[in-house]
Amino acid sequence: MLIKSVELYKTVFKPGDYPEPKEREIAFVGRSNVGKSTLLNAIFRRGLAHTSSTPGKTRSVNFYLINSKHFFVDLPGYGYAKASHQEIKRWQALITDYFKSRPNLNLIALLLDSRHNLQKKDLEMLQWIQYYSIPFVAVLTKTDKLSGNQLSKMLNSFRKELETWGSPLIVPVSAKTRKGISELINILFGK
Ligand code: GDP
Repeated sequence: MLIKSVELYKTVFKPGDYPEPKEREIAFVGRSNVGKSTLLNAIFRRGLAHTSSTPGKTRSVNFYLINSKHFFVDLPGYGYAKASHQEIKRWQALITDYFKSRPNLNLIALLLDSRHNLQKKDLEMLQWIQYYSIPFVAVLTKTDKLSGNQLSKMLNSFRKELETWGSPLIVPVSAKTRKGISELINILFGK
């Protein structure tokens, strides 16, 4: 699958304010700082997604139109330590509303830092994904920070941890070296 064109189609701040569905819709979620914006930019091959130097600020749902017919949806990162109670509530309302409202949501890419095991917030996200019965793949980010040995250890460990969550496909990537990026794109498009 070749990504020929990408445009930021709509930025949504309020539940319900979504665009009409397109062909395929794939949503990206993960803890704040997991490398989501950097990964999206690596997929797009341009700096469209804003990297979160101020993580708490990215509270919108961004719809990117791919090849004029699919949506990649960038959901706000979770688990930002300094987020206020009110911000967290708003975030939860937006995400759960989005999950509920998009029957054509084909796939979630759940981003996990390849260096760390599942965190409490990731487990909460997994519970939501399961509750809304949305298919997902686990994308392990920043794999360039691990040696080959360390990565295979982490892969085993993620595989075990994710067994209780339906043993999703696990895709290791590095936005920095681009390792795994084209494989990931093919997986997202079911190729
Ligand atoms: P977000 O909050 O999930 O959008 O995370 P960002 O994309 O802003 O990335 C957080 C930090 O991780 C930044 O300092 C990035 O440069 C760094 N980062 C992201 N992806 C990679 C990667 O593949 N390799 C390395 N080494 N660093 C990365």
